[in-house]
Amino acid sequence: MPESLNTTPAARLAAVKSRIDAACRACGRTATDVTLVAVSKTHPPEAIARLADQGQVDFGENYVKEATTKIQSLSDRTLFWHFIGHIQSNKCAEIARHFDWVHSVERVKTARRLSDAALEAGRILNVMLQVNLDGGGNKSGVSPASLPALIDDVAGFDGIRVRGLMAIPEPSPNEARQRETFAALRRLRDDAAKSFDGLEYLSMGMSADLESAILEGATHVRIGTALFGPRDYSR
Ligand SMILES: *Cc1c(COP(=O)(O)O)cnc(C)c1O
Repeated sequence: MPESLNTTPAARLAAVKSRIDAACRACGRTATDVTLVAVSKTHPPEAIARLADQGQVDFGENYVKEATTKIQSLSDRTLFWHFIGHIQSNKCAEIARHFDWVHSVERVKTARRLSDAALEAGRILNVMLQVNLDGGGNKSGVSPASLPALIDDVAGFDGIRVRGLMAIPEPSPNEARQRETFAALRRLRDDAAKSFDGLEYLSMGMSADLESAILEGATHVRIGTALFGPRDYSR
């Protein structure tokens, strides 16, 4: 998104929100039903603060160590933190203490550790289960075939509340292909929701494909580049 490079954080946020609005209008949905999660990985606390100044409250992070430093330095603000990265077992306690949401749960063991740690910290974590839809991308996530068993296994954990499904499909420039993949996640959610209460959310869609995701029912879009500009991993 090169055109966003020279604009202000306020302008980038407004541009993303108008994309969300337009996609919602196109399918008769209400924009307030879609939560914009600003993915701030690699970006400094000051960049997060500038977006928060514009009213943005939901932020997503991928790396525990990087995130906890930022979360602590922004603790004077009321923000909601979403963990969206790969979960290492030895990081579960820290994730449960610092984050409000975890979108990337894919194993019973992780779910149990998050639940235990959340209970110990006196909180309840909102969880999405990550599904590997196309076997591609970063290969994370439970297979669609194993999803029902995972839901059954984690349903009894008191420290987490399973709220929905998340996916990171293989990027495709083809809109029909994007929609097909997002629709597959929606169908999995719809099927699972028949026997599991509270499974209402779909975390899907990033900077390049948020429109397709919203047309297929996304309730949480995770947007980094379009809000913050390109990431520099060399620093
Ligand atoms: C980095 C990341 C995003 C944001 O991607 P952009 O293309 O920069 O919008 C969304 N979801 C996950 C899981 C990510 O790791």
